[in-house]
Amino acid sequence: MGFSKKMVAKAIQENGEENTDSILETLLTYSALESSPQRQHHIDSDHCSLECEGNFLDDFSDIDSCSNNEKIMNTEFDEEDKLSSLVNMGYTVDEASLAIDRCGLDSSLVELTDFICAAQMAKVADAHLSELPLEVKPKLKHSCNEYAKHKKRKLSDYEMWTKKKQNEFEKRLLPDDDETIRLPHPMIGFGVPTEPCPTIHRTLPEAAIGPPFFYYENVALAPKGVWTTISRFLYDVEPEFVDSKYFCAAARKRGYVHNLPIQDRFPLLPFPPQTIHEALPLTRKWWPSWDRRTKLNCLQTVIGSAKLTQRIRKALEDYDGEPPLSVQKYVLDECRQWNLVWVGRNKVAPLEADEVEMLLGFPRNHTRGGGISRTDRYKSLGNSFQIDTVAYHLSVLKDMFPGGINLLSLFSGIGGAEVALHRLGIPLKNVVSVEISEVNRNILRCWWEETNQRGNLIDLADVQQLNGDRLEQLMSSIGGFDLVVGGSPCNNLTGSNRLHRDGLEGKESALFFDYFRILDLVKCIMTKAQ
Ligand code: SAH
Repeated sequence: MGFSKKMVAKAIQENGEENTDSILETLLTYSALESSPQRQHHIDSDHCSLECEGNFLDDFSDIDSCSNNEKIMNTEFDEEDKLSSLVNMGYTVDEASLAIDRCGLDSSLVELTDFICAAQMAKVADAHLSELPLEVKPKLKHSCNEYAKHKKRKLSDYEMWTKKKQNEFEKRLLPDDDETIRLPHPMIGFGVPTEPCPTIHRTLPEAAIGPPFFYYENVALAPKGVWTTISRFLYDVEPEFVDSKYFCAAARKRGYVHNLPIQDRFPLLPFPPQTIHEALPLTRKWWPSWDRRTKLNCLQTVIGSAKLTQRIRKALEDYDGEPPLSVQKYVLDECRQWNLVWVGRNKVAPLEADEVEMLLGFPRNHTRGGGISRTDRYKSLGNSFQIDTVAYHLSVLKDMFPGGINLLSLFSGIGGAEVALHRLGIPLKNVVSVEISEVNRNILRCWWEETNQRGNLIDLADVQQLNGDRLEQLMSSIGGFDLVVGGSPCNNLTGSNRLHRDGLEGKESALFFDYFRILDLVKCIMTKAQ
């Protein structure tokens, strides 16, 4: 790579033979410092060579301090100096010339190395991401470039990060023999309050341990390989698959990848109604004995049409008593698919939006009024968290953050995470909520005001616009995030969307990579600040 033997020997002596990352980092630092005019000057005037110094880096013990580093690195070179410095640092002449060409002669050595690293990174990413779709690639590259920009002045940090990310991407995108994560049966994750289950202990991979805590949600029944990829990106944490029917009267099969403790969880009280009849007592009177449903199916974003309920009424009208089995089957299939409930003699109807709110654990009228259409209400509710389920997982935060938490809520929707934390009695100090739909942002803002929150709610629109600089700025003003929550859109993952059920590469579903990108940036910034 163009390092002198002496330099390599010294780097090995300092870091030990095994520690290749640190050796490389030291070598890069030596090279950068050696080729800086100050260093030349320092060496010349002292008549001292590298070898005769006790510990070369002692002179630059504040190497991490931006100002000093920047001063060293920003000194002007002429083109040849810059080229040879870069080549000495182990880059090829082609890479070096291209960087000088693209960035301009007046750019600093650090800017040039950043450019080369980003280009190398992009190459590696391209090679390893070739399996992934077009939308995804720029997201991941974006993450790297973002960080490069963010850490412009920190050559060694960036080198380390680049190497780390290269290895991680390679590992995460490696084909797996067993690509399918099995869904558990019963779908009770690491435990639910309503079922007896064995005590589970889990050890998180080291890279997954916070801060911040993170909590990612998506549909459990995603196409093959999706959860394997999600889990790999989210630091190899095993997903917890839970069906909300163990919490309330409606099913909702979801996977959650999180680094929260799983001991000492507690449920929200009062415990929500567990059966359709408990939840919707007025339906009991009309419920035929041959409809044996006790739980509703997953609450969807759209409801059954008036035509359908009319067809069902007509199909039943001809019979006084129980209809024949074929008619029962037709009616039950439609009722199951569309979550229809009995509201009169031979009359079924879709759930009202406020019934859906109640089943999902939101306050009554949470999504009602203020300019929100009925269609939008169903859509937002259909995509949202089931509060009792999510609150059960988040309950472990209550003792940890008695003074409240700082929340980064990505894809906030109608505020499932915020409502769950509030209902748990965990004060919301600062919430940065990112949600593209104005309707949803309004719903969250109204709830925030109605519940007399004392903290700050900062709302942003697009996760794709949330970059490292903005994050760092937000984090320095509020003091970091305790929790990063997000359930990215599942449009291309769900069974009902057969036309566009194309996995994580779907336009919307690929937003998962923005969740990862942002979480990883928050992690880096938090680690740095520690
Ligand atoms: N967990 C949420 C709902 C998540 S559904 C809740 O409890 O309500 C996914 C959300 O992502 C939707 O509300 C959708 O409007 C939002 N979304 C889609 N694209 C987005 C983007 N680019 N930036 C931010 N939010 C986005």
